[in-house]
Amino acid sequence: MSALNATTPATTTPVLRLDGVRKSFGQNTVLDGITLDVHKHEVLALIGASGSGKSTLLRVINLLEQVDDGQIWLNEHDISDPRTPVDAVRSRIGVVFQHYNLFPHLSVLDNVTLASRTVHKQSRAVAEKRGLELLDQIGLADKARDFPDRLSGGQQQRTAIVRAIATEPELLLLDEVTSALDPELVGEVLDLVRQLKQTGTTIVMATHEMSFARDVADRVAFLHHGRVLEIGEPAAVFENPQEERTREFLARIP
Ligand code: ADP
Ligand code: MG
Repeated sequence: MSALNATTPATTTPVLRLDGVRKSFGQNTVLDGITLDVHKHEVLALIGASGSGKSTLLRVINLLEQVDDGQIWLNEHDISDPRTPVDAVRSRIGVVFQHYNLFPHLSVLDNVTLASRTVHKQSRAVAEKRGLELLDQIGLADKARDFPDRLSGGQQQRTAIVRAIATEPELLLLDEVTSALDPELVGEVLDLVRQLKQTGTTIVMATHEMSFARDVADRVAFLHHGRVLEIGEPAAVFENPQEERTREFLARIP
């Protein structure tokens, strides 16, 4: 691992720091120089039109895509260094996507405990005690031995979220976790994210739920064509956007 970056402030090291991150797919520049920090206990919401680069940004942070240029720091480690052990980094980051999060052939409890047991080498007893506590917190302890297909979409997505935090990751990435849900199931998933924020989880979330972003995020970043055009507290971005593109985007949201 590299030594400390000279630009890292001596006082508080951000949990996540992106510096000039670029990513293209062929001729298509998808991330066009992204620089941002996320601090401990902070919730950063990524907003922007479809195709603006939100998912790719989350994917480069989790090393599902390699950056073409720039650096990504997870706490003090430059994880964009090609020598970085990918599995070790992924074990420090929780991720939940829009779809297909649970393993269908494993029980709900085995889903929640799998990473603790395999990656983090916890005993089954320890992992299951914690797994059952987490399931209890989301009201699903009685479903622990069921397969995921017995759960509603909202219950599945909440299970995926507690699975992602079961290993106490340094950072949680959420990519449109409510977009595939029926409208009546969105609230229970957002409530869980709100709870995680209250317990201090550091979160970067791409979302179309503007009222949720406004309520829960500490800061909101507006992406446009792979650039952060505007970033700030929700009240500033939503009520007093500085950029014409932000105003146009927000005006199109019902
Ligand atoms: P968002 O999540 O904001 O909708 P994405 O990050 O999914 O945006 O996509 C940004 C752009 O990158 C789009 O033009 C998309 O087609 C392109 N893209 C994303 N992933 C790939 C890929 N694996 N190969 C080629 N193009 C991709
Ligand atoms: Mg996306």
